[in-house]
Amino acid sequence: MSIPTICNAGCNKQFTIEKFEIEQMNDGVEQTYFECPHCKNRYVAFYTDPEIRKLQVNIRNMGKSSQTAKGVKLIEKNKRLMNDLRKKMEGGQP
Ligand SMILES: [Zn+2]
Repeated sequence: MSIPTICNAGCNKQFTIEKFEIEQMNDGVEQTYFECPHCKNRYVAFYTDPEIRKLQVNIRNMGKSSQTAKGVKLIEKNKRLMNDLRKKMEGGQP
């Protein structure tokens, strides 16, 4: 993986995301993030919790059938849960 990006919340230098790091947080929540190699500013890619990770395994296991209505529904649910979790984690309050 090699994604070019700009450190727009830090030093404004260009860098390449080589890999995501994972930090374990409370309640089984994992924060997936990457860091600017220049100024070490942290950018959070997304959060997952045990429910989300289970759902993602289900979706992955569906393979091609994740294109079906049932699969699409699960993918939508996954997106919604990830959005909610991010709001919860970044809102600071439960
Ligand atoms: Zn930077």
